[in-house]
Amino acid sequence: MHDYVKPVFFVLMVVLLVPAISGGVMAANRGRMVAAWSILCALLPPLLLLLYFARPLREVEGKYKRCPGCSELLKWHDQVCKYCYAAQVATESTTTLPHRHTS
Ligand SMILES: [Zn+2]
Repeated sequence: MHDYVKPVFFVLMVVLLVPAISGGVMAANRGRMVAAWSILCALLPPLLLLLYFARPLREVEGKYKRCPGCSELLKWHDQVCKYCYAAQVATESTTTLPHRHTS
């Protein structure tokens, strides 16, 4: 009975994969290291909460943009900066930018 795969391995895999994938997706949305956060969230699922409330580190197309007035990060579709109340230029996540700068 050595070729019998215990269901606990499958359960363990799902238990690790679910937080790993959700952690990776959230990390990507916040401009953070996807691989590192996937592993961290798989090992310590409570870190998902930390990541959920974490502020983005950089601009993420379709998710976060930087206010030209005060350099604070805002949600992509925010019309007015919540920090300096500067009106934001309408951004379209669907249009392809001619030149995107990688930071
Ligand atoms: Zn601002």
